Amino acid sequence: MCGIVGYIGHREAYPIVLKGLQRLEYRGYDSAGIALYDGKDLNLCKTKGKVADLKTLLEKEISTSGKLGIGHTRWATHGVPNDVNSHPHYSNSGNLVIIHNGIIENYDSLKKELIKRGYTFQSDTDTEVLVNLIEDVMTNENIKLGKAVQLALNQVIGAYAIAVFDKNKPNEIVVAKLGSPLAIGIGEGEFFIASDASPFIEFTDNAIYLEDHEMAIVRLDKDIKIRKIEDDSLVNPYIQKLQLNLEQIEKGGYPHFMLKEIYEQPLAIKDTYRGRLLADEGIIKMAGIEDNMKRFLNADRIIIVACGTSWHAGLVAEYIFEDLARIPVEVEYASEFRYRNPVITEKDIVISISQSGETADTLAAIKLAKSKGAFVFGVCNVVGSSIARETDAGAYTHAGPEIGVASTKAFTTQITVLTLIALRLARAKGTMSSSDYRRHLHELELIPEKVTEALKADKHIQAISELYKDSRNMLYLGRGYNFPVALEGALKLKEISYIHAEGYPAAEMKHGPIALIDENMPVIIIATKKGHYDKVVSNIQEIKARKGKIIGIVTEGDVNVRELADHVIEVPETLENLSPLLTTIPLQLLSYHIAVLLGKNVDQPRNLAKSVTVE
Ligand code: GLU
Repeated sequence: MCGIVGYIGHREAYPIVLKGLQRLEYRGYDSAGIALYDGKDLNLCKTKGKVADLKTLLEKEISTSGKLGIGHTRWATHGVPNDVNSHPHYSNSGNLVIIHNGIIENYDSLKKELIKRGYTFQSDTDTEVLVNLIEDVMTNENIKLGKAVQLALNQVIGAYAIAVFDKNKPNEIVVAKLGSPLAIGIGEGEFFIASDASPFIEFTDNAIYLEDHEMAIVRLDKDIKIRKIEDDSLVNPYIQKLQLNLEQIEKGGYPHFMLKEIYEQPLAIKDTYRGRLLADEGIIKMAGIEDNMKRFLNADRIIIVACGTSWHAGLVAEYIFEDLARIPVEVEYASEFRYRNPVITEKDIVISISQSGETADTLAAIKLAKSKGAFVFGVCNVVGSSIARETDAGAYTHAGPEIGVASTKAFTTQITVLTLIALRLARAKGTMSSSDYRRHLHELELIPEKVTEALKADKHIQAISELYKDSRNMLYLGRGYNFPVALEGALKLKEISYIHAEGYPAAEMKHGPIALIDENMPVIIIATKKGHYDKVVSNIQEIKARKGKIIGIVTEGDVNVRELADHVIEVPETLENLSPLLTTIPLQLLSYHIAVLLGKNVDQPRNLAKSVTVE
């Protein structure tokens, strides 16, 4: 995920593009760049770091003049964050300049083809491949930029919002969208392009939001023409009147980043498996695993090290790895592991999980594991982060920036990556039948849709939150795959509402916590159909007998728990080992609403930091 901005019109582009990037920085902040064109000279400056770093450098190094400008704030997906990989990128001739938000999945094969045809590349990005593909089509077919963009995009698999211009045509910018957002602001004799409307809100309230598979030629002397990329058919532009304020736009209209990120999960999970999960072909492709398959197959055990929410994702992974791939797994708090002289051998694989890739304890645990000869694999969200650099191999979650301090989409995307790894290893080891394996692949592919379904309970969950917001304690129970989800649910509540909560394996309840249950104790219990259902129903009976208030997270259409519980929240049915991806959704919403009702600072809870870079 990243932010893109463009301007073409009668004003100087630089201040508009710069301010636009500052407003879009929440979308990505590992590098930034701006290209300005005055019809003669192209002034381009890009750098690793924040938009503020770019501003200092740019104003020192290049002329800021030009009435056409494009800018980018990056959240790397291909190639570490450095100056060269930053956008804008230009084509080999130097004529085409592009900014891109998204992932070109088939960039590797396209790149090889272009290299054969004599193209050279400076960066490791997928974006530089795209701009050269456009140039190649343009030269071969002898056509204009708009047409070339269209033909090139028809060869592309992936997601994109792009803005590209040709130095020979300083009065137009071509834009296109699939999967990533793109808005066009329409002013008097000027146009604005951006990932959301915040960069141009003070200039115009007329905007067109491109739909997927659409492209537009934004030209100064003409009305905007929107076409379908696939078949060139014209689309009637729908101009919207913007009514949002700046803050609302940055949060996509959501009142908090946390809620926005909860709602982003269907897309984030899709982005995580995009290009890796080919369900119809029965294939999982992950370079970090393929390149090291021997090590994985010969491993005695996997040790997962992580902290906080990532540790909970690790616990889910323990169940999946052991269940599907039959590899023994231990899950460790990184902070304990690093200080307790653990037994680590060269035949161990250590998987470290961290959203930011900067968690100090996890980094220290990695260093320890490496010093003992273990093979270390990283699962993180931030490309080029310290953990990504320190590990022998890894897989990114591609969840996009997570701004809310309480992790939501990081958790579900970590589980998605770990599930893909477990399935790939299970296939390689032959521990799953081919039909079971394929069933899992297809079901995983359906998870984003099912998360969308689960999110529909939002209003119902808000009403439940009203009833329990003044509770002083809450108990979260789950069994099997949903025990770690219970832990995560309790952590979410503690983090943002400051209500004490405990997660427990449902069956352990009678070994202690049952003493806490009375009519003032709400118990959130995950009781999905697949996964020890009858046992969990018995646990619910035990709570009911002690007058506890029961909120059941159940499978759609459930009857038994509904009869016993005070409230039920439904999630769609899925395979037991994928259920954490769904059952976690209502728990995120529950803690969110309770915290909001209590007037807490949801995005920046007291005493916490987004990435814990100290031990
Ligand atoms: N895939 C592109 C890159 O890695 C764009 C990433 C983004 O959306 O920021 O440079």
